Amino acid sequence: MERLAPVERFLRYVRIDTQSDENSGQSPSTAKQHDLAKVLAAELKEMGAKEITYDKKHCYVYATIPATKGYEKAPTLGFIAHMDTSPAVTGANVKPKRIRKYDGEDIVLNKKKQIVMKVEEFPELKELVGEDLIVTDGTTLLGADDKAGVAEIMAMAEFLMKYPEIKHGKIRIGFTPDEEIGCGPDHFDLERFGADFAYTVDGGALGELEFENFNAASAKLTVYGRNTHPGSAKGKMINSILVAQEFQSLLPTFENPAYTEGYEGFFHLDGISGNVEKTTCEYIIRDHDKKLFEKKKAVFAECAEFLNKRYGEGCVQAEVKDTYYNMREVMGPYMHLIDHAKEAMEELGIVPKVLPIRGGTDGARLSFLGLPCPNLCTGGANYHSRFEYVHVQGMEKTAELLVRLVEAYGIQK
Ligand SMILES: [Zn+2]
Repeated sequence: MERLAPVERFLRYVRIDTQSDENSGQSPSTAKQHDLAKVLAAELKEMGAKEITYDKKHCYVYATIPATKGYEKAPTLGFIAHMDTSPAVTGANVKPKRIRKYDGEDIVLNKKKQIVMKVEEFPELKELVGEDLIVTDGTTLLGADDKAGVAEIMAMAEFLMKYPEIKHGKIRIGFTPDEEIGCGPDHFDLERFGADFAYTVDGGALGELEFENFNAASAKLTVYGRNTHPGSAKGKMINSILVAQEFQSLLPTFENPAYTEGYEGFFHLDGISGNVEKTTCEYIIRDHDKKLFEKKKAVFAECAEFLNKRYGEGCVQAEVKDTYYNMREVMGPYMHLIDHAKEAMEELGIVPKVLPIRGGTDGARLSFLGLPCPNLCTGGANYHSRFEYVHVQGMEKTAELLVRLVEAYGIQK
């Protein structure tokens, strides 16, 4: 048997610009995401995959690797990756560069522009000495997020089509647009996809395995002040900027992104604008624990109430809206997805690193829509950055991991 080969595909896919755009209001947010969707649909066809659907309107690609004869009743396992790259850094003219047997030194990404990836700043590079890396030229992102995942799923699909002796149930593949702007699941056709459960392949370093994410809410604070001439303001003026500042000071000081990690939640002041008359503040509220999440939202409302008592009813308005929830909550009956992933990793000599996601994933939303969807590693690192890179052997191992998982669910019934 040949080895799985995601790397050559990856190098082709990252050259296709698929950057999404949070301000477009369209679906897909950018038409250029179709450029990759078309390539993937054609390649799936070429390798003999079945039930290929290319949703030309919303830019989703679905395909099936049919079950081995006699395994039709095994559960249908899905694999999902996103085609777009982050709006944060340009994805045009990506020039991937392969570094063979990395020596552990600083990496000069761009000699002319003096762009250097320093080990001091990215100490996890030390774990990859002797391995191959693919880096950028320092002027764009790489797009390992999530074209590494796309390439690994494609390599797995090709491998399964080529080697029918690997026994498995029906495998469904889904490639989505606009994950980076939080819209991946918007037009995802769950019914058409039809998997019993799935993995998103959209994590980081080899071994990462995620099935817990934040509960999330966005909160908007509007403060109405009362302006008067500052010379005769005594007892009359209410400066909404200062009231907003007071509000922030009432929130727990250390429940702030800069002081939290792991399972610690936070209030994050994301934006503020205003004048004496009116100030608005944009917050996000996050916590893995549902009870603590609810408590944080209550604290937010109480702080607003307190200020209304001080400055008069209606001075402060707090609006809190839930955005997504921790998928851990619905994962209970599906913990086999985690157990199988851990086992498969250990068989391949990968150390599983189960980490709580300090954010959300498309998988979290899909999980609440009825498709349980933990997240697997890809081998990539430094996402949404010019310092993004991918670990080549990590990509190959991840593709192998996908095949192992397929085998694990290939139960003859
Ligand atoms: Zn991603």
